[in-house]
Amino acid sequence: MISRIQRWTALGLTTLALTACSGGPAPAPKASGKPDRQSAVPTLAPGPQGLTPVFASGPGIPGRPTVALTFDADMTADQGPRAAAGERFDNPALVDTLRELKVPATFFMTGRWAEEYPDQARAIGRDKLFEVANHSYSHYAFTADCYGLPHLPADRVRADVDRAFAAFRRAGVPRPVPYFRFPGGCYDQAALRALAPSGVTAVQWDVVSGDAFATDPDAVARQVLEGVGPGSVVVMHCTRSAAPTTERAVRAIVPELRKRGFHFVKVSDQIGAARARS
Ligand SMILES: [Zn+2]
Repeated sequence: MISRIQRWTALGLTTLALTACSGGPAPAPKASGKPDRQSAVPTLAPGPQGLTPVFASGPGIPGRPTVALTFDADMTADQGPRAAAGERFDNPALVDTLRELKVPATFFMTGRWAEEYPDQARAIGRDKLFEVANHSYSHYAFTADCYGLPHLPADRVRADVDRAFAAFRRAGVPRPVPYFRFPGGCYDQAALRALAPSGVTAVQWDVVSGDAFATDPDAVARQVLEGVGPGSVVVMHCTRSAAPTTERAVRAIVPELRKRGFHFVKVSDQIGAARARS
């Protein structure tokens, strides 16, 4: 359901992402390619007219093909009653599997999700294998027409993003990274302008896993394996409710990509590599 947006992104704003890398000191990844956790998390410089920069995929690290799996922990502001009725928006088995397979990952978490599952948010945030990024508080759309999501007006964007970071802090996530994923992946110039005061780097993707509402984990795995190249960012979900096959798909994807020589990294590693090459 995201492929339309992905095509638009690939054709449009990926260029902005890669041209927005100039300015500011490049981070200094260690020889291993892993980020120095003591240094600032790498971000992209603002785009033209100070617009929020957008990162979709990286150039990769020469001789060391990398791929970043990202998981959107979706829960919308008005889904509390559904959670209370037993619907599960979390996916602890997926997180356990990533740990078992030692796969670094970036979680784009809504503030509402962190409020519903504070223990899990904290555990993910405290695990050096993972990083927690912002997926808005409400999971309302930043454009008027986005898969039927309620529309968040531009004058409420800053507060919504801040509210998500506040929810992470309350849950005990120690250092959320300053990255942001648009709900539904929907954005335009106005959304990039409204988001700019938040100082985040927007993160899209170049590989759509198709795990949303999927019923066949093998089909999800196939789609990922066909799409991944060096520097890729893969979008998946960390919510059993809307993505019930993701954990099984990950079990198929990880060994196959390792067999092909890929190393799993976090989004911050991909952005760090992009900046180092710019
Ligand atoms: Zn989402």
